[in-house]
Amino acid sequence: MADQATASAVQLPAVPAPPLAPWATDYRRSRGRLFAEAPSATRTEYQRDRDRIVHSTAFRRLAHKTQVFVPMAVDHFRTRLTHTIEVAQIARAVARSLGLDDDLAEALALAHDLGHTPFGHTGEDVLEVCMKPWGGFDHNAQALRIVTRLESRYARYDGLNLTWEMLEGLVKHNGPLVDRRGAPLARHAKKGVPADILEHDARQSLELWSYASAEAQAAALADDIAYNTHDIDDALRAGLIDFEALRGVEFVGDLLREVETQHPGLDRQRTIHEITRRLITRFVEDVIAESLRRLREHDCRSAAEVRGQSRPMVSFSPALESADKAIKGFLFPNVYRHPRIVVIRKNAADVVEHLFDRFMRDPTLLPGGRAQAAAECSEAERARIVCDYIAGMTDRYALAEHRRLFGHAPDLQ
Ligand code: MG
Repeated sequence: MADQATASAVQLPAVPAPPLAPWATDYRRSRGRLFAEAPSATRTEYQRDRDRIVHSTAFRRLAHKTQVFVPMAVDHFRTRLTHTIEVAQIARAVARSLGLDDDLAEALALAHDLGHTPFGHTGEDVLEVCMKPWGGFDHNAQALRIVTRLESRYARYDGLNLTWEMLEGLVKHNGPLVDRRGAPLARHAKKGVPADILEHDARQSLELWSYASAEAQAAALADDIAYNTHDIDDALRAGLIDFEALRGVEFVGDLLREVETQHPGLDRQRTIHEITRRLITRFVEDVIAESLRRLREHDCRSAAEVRGQSRPMVSFSPALESADKAIKGFLFPNVYRHPRIVVIRKNAADVVEHLFDRFMRDPTLLPGGRAQAAAECSEAERARIVCDYIAGMTDRYALAEHRRLFGHAPDLQ
């Protein structure tokens, strides 16, 4: 039986309908949830999705997971949680201007990094290697596992029982996974689509060949805008790069010169923030203008028509697409592979690898019900239990587990 909406003595106002463009995802036409539930008296389906994400355990853990910089080093650097909040802010801004359902865009932004491991991409790279014999590790597939299985707080089901539009948007964060004949695309071309996504797709088709909704596309681009800009901000403040290095970076160098011309002698801290805010504004305004141009050019009259296009409808213009590539091309060697970061990465990678090996060899060391479950199953199932456990850890919990099992943990500063 479906849940009953909360009974109330007072007359609740009708759910306010946001003004939606024809290409928006209409919450009144959601394809619904795997487990049927009565509608909320006060919230749209996507507002409920957003609220379920915010109240999840996986969401709270983002506060103590590394984005790029190990957060204990300096309190002002981004964590996965502050990154996620910035992505949500940008996604809402883009969605609102395009006439999209900004609650759906926000919910997808808040959920987009739930599948990330401790220690940023370092943890993911290690788990990917450790899990190679048993289907690998993919953070989008892990996000799907979390919201469909691993969160175990609701009485009637595992996961958060999100709408189809949320699940579709999460797995297609990087675009379609397969072509129209079912052949895996892009990063899935080599290893195939992760088993968890295929399993869910067999139960409830996520139409892996199509683009996701415009709201999901907005959330994905908001992710790029947020980390391009905040990684420059954090790297400047960490002293990994300086203004001189930025002068040669397409677009960013122009903004730095613009700030210097408009505000001669401005102090370093304010200059950094002026660059950051201008970067976000220019990227956001560019995405809004280019996406409106595409949606009109393709004459998209529904969310289905957005999905059916052969390219994304929410996009940077060619000029800022080139700037986006230039920024990423600069950040990779100069920040993500900076010698100071490389040392921390190595130590963090060792922590994850040691934990995985130890738990695989002796599953009785796993806490709670996991030890028994891991003792009574196949090696592949045990590997997935260990992988889920480690992937869910915060940075400091992983270090504490390393200390518990090995008597010491590296100082990741
Ligand atoms: Mg992200």
